[in-house]
Amino acid sequence: MSNKKIIILGGGESGSGAAVLAKVKGFDVFLSDSGSIKQNYKDLLDKYGIEWEENRHSEERILKADEIIKSPGIPTKAPLIQKLMAQGTPIISEIEFAGRYNKAKTVCITGSNGKTTTTMLTYHILQKAGLNVGLAGNVGKSFALQVAENDFDYYVIELSSFQLDNMYDFKADIAVLLNITPDHLDRYEYKFQNYIDAKMRITQNQTKDDVFIYWNDDEIIRKNLSSIVSEGRRTPFSLKKGNSAKAYIDDGNFTIEGENSFLSISVNDLSLKGTHNIYNSMAAALSASALYIKDDAIRSSLMDFEGVEHRLEPVAKVKGVCYVNDSKATNVNSCWYALESMKTPVVLILGGTDKGNDYNEILPLVKEKVRSLVFMGKDNRKLLKFFEGVKPYVSVDSMEAAINECYKAAKDGDTVLLSPCCASFDLFNNYEHRGKMFKEAVKNL
Ligand code: ADP
Repeated sequence: MSNKKIIILGGGESGSGAAVLAKVKGFDVFLSDSGSIKQNYKDLLDKYGIEWEENRHSEERILKADEIIKSPGIPTKAPLIQKLMAQGTPIISEIEFAGRYNKAKTVCITGSNGKTTTTMLTYHILQKAGLNVGLAGNVGKSFALQVAENDFDYYVIELSSFQLDNMYDFKADIAVLLNITPDHLDRYEYKFQNYIDAKMRITQNQTKDDVFIYWNDDEIIRKNLSSIVSEGRRTPFSLKKGNSAKAYIDDGNFTIEGENSFLSISVNDLSLKGTHNIYNSMAAALSASALYIKDDAIRSSLMDFEGVEHRLEPVAKVKGVCYVNDSKATNVNSCWYALESMKTPVVLILGGTDKGNDYNEILPLVKEKVRSLVFMGKDNRKLLKFFEGVKPYVSVDSMEAAINECYKAAKDGDTVLLSPCCASFDLFNNYEHRGKMFKEAVKNL
């Protein structure tokens, strides 16, 4: 038994999983959450005999930890974290901790947008190909819990920038970087470069046996490639052939020229629609190719994947109008891609908790494709000011009212799109709640 004291801050999915793994490995474990802990996590902690506290931090005890595992939700600027840093206590992420004990191969996926879609698609391909694979990170169960309880040969792991922040020795066998656009700047001292640096850490510690897959049309990624010191084999994807792209569009065909594969599919046959999903499909296919999955298996999985809830999810057609739930579009860039993929006039629902949005990015597409706007939030002033005179709009403060307004505004053949550019916390518990309310309101029409 080691007496090393590991203290876990945050009792959510990652924290409780880390606590279980630490306990199983024989450490002295204590978990502390400044808010309340959900019952299912309390039950898990109790099952393993792990000591925990909620609604407070016993600071004196925490400051005596030998190592801290911090939930990605806790910002570095939190006073307790600052104190721990000042006294030199090592602070790591749950993924870093689990990586110490993991023997399975990992595909790690990050980016500002498209992480969950790409993670789920990659998982789908690997699973259908018969690999013994787990799904971890921001989707599914925590990586640490699975390392403690399961025996997978592969993991597909979705990583946010916050998880990458406290990663040091962890290495992704296959690292995927989808794109980098400004997001979460409140957590990065409002410096875009800090956020970029966090994302680029997906490549750290890679050797030439590893693979680094990235979107080569992203100017920010290209500019930062020179800062990478690790040796993962570079595997760029792009809409255009050339420039060493290993995945590209050639004459309307989605083409993969991976290390172990060559396959070509008509773009129309890909199950995920929209340009952004071409990129996501490329990243997933290249990951599968790096794991020696056969071309036919990759091809069929790209064609039969059912998509992910709340991401451009078709809900229903009512009186000739399609209702699409893209509640997960919590920043401007993801709304841009949603609008870009629209083939009909759109009634667009925007609004929620603004994270410092600049709506100029979607202005041309709003002008081109949007029939009218519905602002849905507690405080719609910023939207009203920005879109004044651009398109007709109404301002509401509930989902029900928003759907009623959309119903009135939309014409036969239109699409009503919830792709709000904002977080949901002003009116909803989270984006899933917002998406579910949208679907319910549509079904009540
Ligand atoms: P994440 O997990 O990174 O938040 P998701 O897969 O959940 O990403 O998708 C979130 C939203 O981002 C989707 O609703 C879609 O509109 C948009 N999106 C998905 N993939 C991409 C991409 N590759 N580039 C830009 N936007 C994307």
